[in-house]
Amino acid sequence: MRLRNIKGAGEVIEANEFVIKNPEEHKGKWNEVFQNDHPIRIEIGMGKGQFIMEMARQNPNINYIGVERYSSVLLRALQKHQETELTNLYFLCIDARTVEDIFAQGEIDKIYLNFSDPWPKDRHAKRRLTSREFLTRYDKILRADGRLEFKTDNRGLFEFSLEETKEAGWKIQQHTFDLHQDESMNVGNIMTEYEEKFSSMGNPIHKMIIYR
Ligand code: SAM
Repeated sequence: MRLRNIKGAGEVIEANEFVIKNPEEHKGKWNEVFQNDHPIRIEIGMGKGQFIMEMARQNPNINYIGVERYSSVLLRALQKHQETELTNLYFLCIDARTVEDIFAQGEIDKIYLNFSDPWPKDRHAKRRLTSREFLTRYDKILRADGRLEFKTDNRGLFEFSLEETKEAGWKIQQHTFDLHQDESMNVGNIMTEYEEKFSSMGNPIHKMIIYR
């Protein structure tokens, strides 16, 4: 998702207390930001934030961080966040390639990837958020028993992701090619903006949960 540049987005983000600036400074100390020891879960590429805001609302004893690369997109999430009183959700405007500089080993309890950009050209495979290169980065921040959950309607990207999981030495706990028809995996499912859009067009949603 890339919205046209919005004038002033940078200033709004700079002034918002829920967007953490210089996040590297909190590496290994994110519990101080939240002022508690609750587990921390991140969504990488959260877009306008519908999923992570609903997760934070339903689970006040879990901390959430929404990661989004583009300020114009993050701005939309912040506008929605203003209408809530959530204190267990912060945001980062960063490229996910830098996650190892921001979180310490084992600091993250769960990683969510929802409808990540497919980067269809082979030469761009390393940019896919489920590539082995990214799995190696996640390995450095995820708790030993942590989980990564990925949803997409893109069959090619999903099959690639299942392959990369094995190549990177991760294991598949559960997967489905049709989440909304899968009684057990769909329990408590929270839809993202893209999930609502693509499932309403009749696209089946694929999901995998993986661990090391
Ligand atoms: N997760 C949302 C959903 O399911 O509705 C948005 C999906 S949108 C297709 C993918 C989002 O991931 C975009 O907003 C994009 O800017 C963000 N993104 C892609 N690559 C990223 C990266 N390397 N670091 C941070 N965000 C990224």
